[in-house]
Amino acid sequence: MESLRTRIIDVQRKPTKCPQCGERVVDIIYGTGEMTPVEFVFEYRREGMVGGDYIPRNPPIWACSCCGKRFRKVLSDGTPAPVKVRMLQNLRKKPATLIHWTDSSQEPQPDSESYRHYLVTVTTELDETETLSVSAANEKEAIELADNLVVRGMVGLKGMFCLKTSVEEVPLQK
Ligand SMILES: [Zn+2]
Repeated sequence: MESLRTRIIDVQRKPTKCPQCGERVVDIIYGTGEMTPVEFVFEYRREGMVGGDYIPRNPPIWACSCCGKRFRKVLSDGTPAPVKVRMLQNLRKKPATLIHWTDSSQEPQPDSESYRHYLVTVTTELDETETLSVSAANEKEAIELADNLVVRGMVGLKGMFCLKTSVEEVPLQK
C-alpha cells in the first residue's frame, strides 16, 4: 500500500495529469482525521485525497488520484507559494449521481462500446430516494448493481434494500 511519506513534487500550477502514472490529479483535503479514501468518497461524493489532520509546513495541496504522488505549489523561483489548504469542514457533500459506479472496478476498463450509462433511481424501505449513475451492459445489470450498492450500504442511505427502482439510459455524449 501507499506510504504516507510518498515523494512530494514541486509544481507551479496544478498538473492536469500525474507525471508519474498519467492519472488525474485531485485536491488534498485536510482535517479528515482517520477517514479512509473510500469513506470520503462515499460520504462526500466528490474527488479528493484525504490528507488527515496533520498539515505540514508548506503543505502539498494536490495529489495523484492513483499513485499517491503529492504536489506542492511553488513560485517561479522555487520557493513555496502561499496556499490555502482545503479543509473537510468547508466541503459540501455532493449528490450520489456524481459518483459513477461500475461493477468491474477491479477489471481493466470496459470499452465504451459494450457498456452503457444508466441513471438508476432507487427507493428504499425507509422511503429514501437516490439516483445513482452506473455503467452496465444492460438495464437489468444496472438495476442489479444499484441494488447491490444499496444492500452494501455504499450510497449513504439508511435503508437496506430497494423497494422500487427505475432505470433510464443516458445517451452517450459526443
Ligand atoms: Zn500518479
